[in-house]
Amino acid sequence: MQLTRLEIKGFKSFGDKVTINFNEGVTAIVGPNGCGKSNVIDAMRWVLGEQSTKALRSEKMENIIFNGTKNRKQAQLAEVSLSFDNTKNILPTAYSQVTVTRKLYRNGDSEYRLNDVQCRLKDITDLFLDTGIGSDSYSIIELKMVDEIITNKEHSRRSLFEEASGISKYKLRKKQTFNKLKDTEADLERVEDLLFEIEKTLKP
Ligand code: ATP
Repeated sequence: MQLTRLEIKGFKSFGDKVTINFNEGVTAIVGPNGCGKSNVIDAMRWVLGEQSTKALRSEKMENIIFNGTKNRKQAQLAEVSLSFDNTKNILPTAYSQVTVTRKLYRNGDSEYRLNDVQCRLKDITDLFLDTGIGSDSYSIIELKMVDEIITNKEHSRRSLFEEASGISKYKLRKKQTFNKLKDTEADLERVEDLLFEIEKTLKP
């Protein structure tokens, strides 16, 4: 699966729309300190659903919207789109080109889109599960994460291997199934209570 395009508009230092085509031999992004290289990585992490403002090097989510400059007004909307070539059908979808979009308005409204159709964040995380692509997976790694993996902070090395070996999906499903079981057990208890009450009044 090939990352093909990243479009950023109104996100952090990118006031104007910037398109980076990765299928044209781009292997590295260089530039002076503070020019926005890490913001490109933040944009990828964000569009894939990153919820932690700390991971995005920001105090609050609103701060990721372009804040303006001396001569420019601040933006009202941050929008990032990330496109993948899915001709090898690695992503479980019929589409050969997949574009994920995330928008955040200054009033707090937000939106996720898959191939320009509004969706939930869960649809995006489910789509990329066990592909190694995601806000916290191993394909998008910033300097801080390298340190965390080396020091094995919060079992980060284990999570990395689990994602790479494709078992995260099963762990998630197991958790969801256990939650369903718990709900069903609570329902059963309620049924037993009802039965007890009904049986008491049955004879009279
Ligand atoms: P270094 O090489 O030092 O790591 P870098 O190229 O990775 O730097 P970034 O950390 O990506 O740089 O970008 C930092 C720049 O982004 C700063 O100039 C900061 O002012 C700008 N920036 C961050 N958030 C916003 C925002 N909401 N609006 C406008 N500019 C922003």
